[in-house]
Amino acid sequence: MSAKKKRVLLTGASGSMGGEAFKELLRRRDKCDIVLLLRPSKQNRGAFAKYDGQPGVTIVWGDLCNPDDVLKAVNGVDHVLHPAALIAPEADGKPKQCRMINFGGTSNVIAAIKKQPNNGDTITLVYIGSVAAYGDRLPPIEWINVGDPLKPSVGDYYATTKIAAERAIIDSGIKHWAIMRQTYIAIPNALTLMDPIMFHQPVNTYIELITSQDAGYGLVQTTEAPDEFYERVYNMGGGPSCRVVFVDYMRRMMKMFGLGDVTKIMPLNWFALRNFHCGWYEDSDELNKYLGHWRHSLEDHYKEVEDSIPWYLRILKPCTSITPSSVTSIFVRMFMRRMADPLHWIENNDEEKVKAFFGSRQKWEAIGGWKDYALQPSNPNQPRRMKEAMPDKPTLEYARALAQARGGQCLSDSFVDLKTVLQWKCGLGHEFSGSPRLLQAGHWCPKCAAPPWNYDEQAKVDPLLAKFYYNNHDKDEHQKVDYLYCPYEPEEVG
Ligand SMILES: [Zn+2]
Repeated sequence: MSAKKKRVLLTGASGSMGGEAFKELLRRRDKCDIVLLLRPSKQNRGAFAKYDGQPGVTIVWGDLCNPDDVLKAVNGVDHVLHPAALIAPEADGKPKQCRMINFGGTSNVIAAIKKQPNNGDTITLVYIGSVAAYGDRLPPIEWINVGDPLKPSVGDYYATTKIAAERAIIDSGIKHWAIMRQTYIAIPNALTLMDPIMFHQPVNTYIELITSQDAGYGLVQTTEAPDEFYERVYNMGGGPSCRVVFVDYMRRMMKMFGLGDVTKIMPLNWFALRNFHCGWYEDSDELNKYLGHWRHSLEDHYKEVEDSIPWYLRILKPCTSITPSSVTSIFVRMFMRRMADPLHWIENNDEEKVKAFFGSRQKWEAIGGWKDYALQPSNPNQPRRMKEAMPDKPTLEYARALAQARGGQCLSDSFVDLKTVLQWKCGLGHEFSGSPRLLQAGHWCPKCAAPPWNYDEQAKVDPLLAKFYYNNHDKDEHQKVDYLYCPYEPEEVG
């Protein structure tokens, strides 16, 4: 006797993680029926129309931003896998659309689930969050845990929309939800790295990457997870064998592409000093215990990149990788220099960006050459979230300790459980509501949450934020910005 097939809705099947999840679902068609929600763009129709109507595959051609389309897709499903998002660098230039898709779209998914029988209690929702929520975690505090304060980088509007969506899910009242904060997804076509965003990233950034295949596989594995998996936030990375420092990653890639030695082509002061994201996930094994998705290593990824190098670089490579010709070097250097955004901010005296990414012009001027560069050793005493250890049975005292750690107060005088919403006040005097488990996951005051970015004021009153923020900010810095890339009036978050 075969068990009843599960019906699985996947959003974002046209993305790198979603695409791999779709392939994985296709491999499991004996166990599940697949529903895709896809925008009816020419590209999507070209790539997916052939699956429409195949046994076990239903495509809802619609828009995540349209509640009716989302409801149609959610009707009758058992699982919702929701990796769809507008991501950087595209998201940086389209903040309004970014919020509509990432936050608005997720709100539509939540509402559609709650319209199902029994308030959607039997349906599971897995949402893909982002490592960008933590902001930069440069050495010596490169180890990240769920519960660390969320402090998206200044101007990273994308991250703020992902955080707002998390918040909506955690306190949505949906019974089975899980959030997986996804790290950098490595795809074989690594030439897409050749984007100005590459220079926004400090060379000493720790990265625990994950291959798109492992990310997609892990996402589908959640449909097999036990009940206890849900109502929790996880960090999703590729594990110890996928950990690398950005400069070493770049060095290897440049070598593979035959583009020469990174330190000869790109001076150190083309790269930002801070204000990007990524780190090593200290707790990513928690998720692997459930999903078993750690199947590929960094070396597997390099091998895949090597295999997908385009022909024109293959032709070039034998001449450049042994002794890079001066002509090639000059060409590559010119090409790279045009992309080096941080250098342009300095040249154009773009004060707010210089502040955010360097601290000051003086700090940029003080950047030495590669010969003096050394990776700072890890701090053996990484800042930790909670001295207020989780008691067996959480109480009001525990809730108060959570607030106190952030320099605020719990205003409620009774406590039911971790998911029941309480009233709080942040150190800047804003009152807000939220569940204790929202705070446990690193969220705090929605009015303080960016935008605008105002960490210099917040860190003065928030001891937990201060522990992380002052890693690479001075106490006398002042920056408050609404937006760094485009003129836009953001709506209030929360
Ligand atoms: Zn506040």
